Amino acid sequence: MAKVVVIGAGPSGIIASLKAKEKGHEVILLERNDKCGKKLLLTGNGKCNYWNSAIGIDNYYTDNYELLNNLLKNKDKVINYLESLGITPKIIDNYYYPLSETTQSIKELLQLELIRKNIKVLYNTYVSNIEYKNNYFYIETNNELIKCDKVVLSTGSKAYPNTGSDGIGYILSSNLGHKINKVLPSLTSLYSRDINKSFSGIRVDAKLSLYVNDTFIKESIGNLQLTNYGLSGICTFNLSSIVSKSLDKKKNVLIKINFLPSIDNLFKFIEDRNKRLKDFTISEILESLLNYKLINIILDKAKIKKEDKWHNLSNYQKELLINYLSSYEVKIDKTNDFNNSQCCTGGISLNDVSNNLESKIIPNLYFTGEILDVDGICGGFNLAFAFISGFVVGSNL
Ligand SMILES: Cc1cc2nc3c(=O)[nH]c(=O)nc-3n(C[C@H](O)[C@H](O)[C@H](O)COP(=O)(O)OP(=O)(O)OC[C@H]3O[C@@H](n4cnc5c(N)ncnc54)[C@H](O)[C@@H]3O)c2cc1C
Repeated sequence: MAKVVVIGAGPSGIIASLKAKEKGHEVILLERNDKCGKKLLLTGNGKCNYWNSAIGIDNYYTDNYELLNNLLKNKDKVINYLESLGITPKIIDNYYYPLSETTQSIKELLQLELIRKNIKVLYNTYVSNIEYKNNYFYIETNNELIKCDKVVLSTGSKAYPNTGSDGIGYILSSNLGHKINKVLPSLTSLYSRDINKSFSGIRVDAKLSLYVNDTFIKESIGNLQLTNYGLSGICTFNLSSIVSKSLDKKKNVLIKINFLPSIDNLFKFIEDRNKRLKDFTISEILESLLNYKLINIILDKAKIKKEDKWHNLSNYQKELLINYLSSYEVKIDKTNDFNNSQCCTGGISLNDVSNNLESKIIPNLYFTGEILDVDGICGGFNLAFAFISGFVVGSNL
């Protein structure tokens, strides 16, 4: 039996603590806040999208997909474990939410299990330094110095720093000799000078195609929100990890927006619609296909009057209009900041840890959750990774 200190009572640290205690270790969980799971409470707009039926490496970014794949093989054990804690899912299009549809219930169930297992949780305890000497760890906190055999670092990333995860974990790890892959915002909105105030408030189901230095990289389909500064919404968030890294390397990032992705041949579609609705103006033809604000912006940009008829447009005007509707180009200037990002890309390299997430540099030091260089797209993949990594570490201590 070892004395294990887990630093950070987020989802990954809690699961690591529970599994470690089940193995018979003495466990102390340290949390700087006065309660656990402060970030967890914000997830899924308060509904907590904690899992997804499609968990697999395709939905993540990391620097070691082989190791991530091995970790994700534990997914069935982990979802069963969550069920055993009383977390009952409501599954909507692969997305898992608690049946109660409130994130509070997941937090309560996790906390209840900490109490049931008699795990010592020290709240308002901030870890400022970790020293490793003669096979022991010495953990400096604002209250006391704690000596232990094993440490699990579950301090999160630096997204939404006011939840408690402000990036200190990277400093603690780097002081212990770890290389940190550059940490950048992910699952965040994007700024572009090509989008202005007139777009603000428009929401559409769109397809975004991402180009970096003129090369097509990836597409993303889903809800797009246009703001007064750029692009937001799930389909933007899902490209933001790549955008962050590309902009950091000073590459050109361009997104082409298809505002009508469900229509295959838009030119023919409008021609046919025009034949059926021959008295209609171009604006009326587009009515019911798109938000009226967007129709006005696009017609303006193509220098076409609302009352023009499709059959009176020149071929050039028709092509221009089709192009703006299906391939509207937006150059991305920057991403939003850490305060407005749901997670981070970068962190502790998976190349510096073993299959059970033990450091290859300092024995008996482990990492769980978002501090690692693993970030998922929207849909419950980040919490799923937090739970899986916590489970793997706690089970193998
Ligand atoms: C607004 C928002 C919505 C989100 N929605 C979803 C969603 O619906 N689905 C999804 O899968 N993911 C979502 N995420 C991401 C998800 O919340 C995180 O990936 C997940 O919480 C990471 O868990 P973690 O245990 O690694 O870290 P965290 O949850 O960040 O927990 C780390 C803990 O460590 C503590 N800590 C940090 N430093 C110290 C220190 N020095 N001493 C003591 N304690 C310390 C912190 O206070 C914190 O409690 C969302 C994130 C945000 C911000």
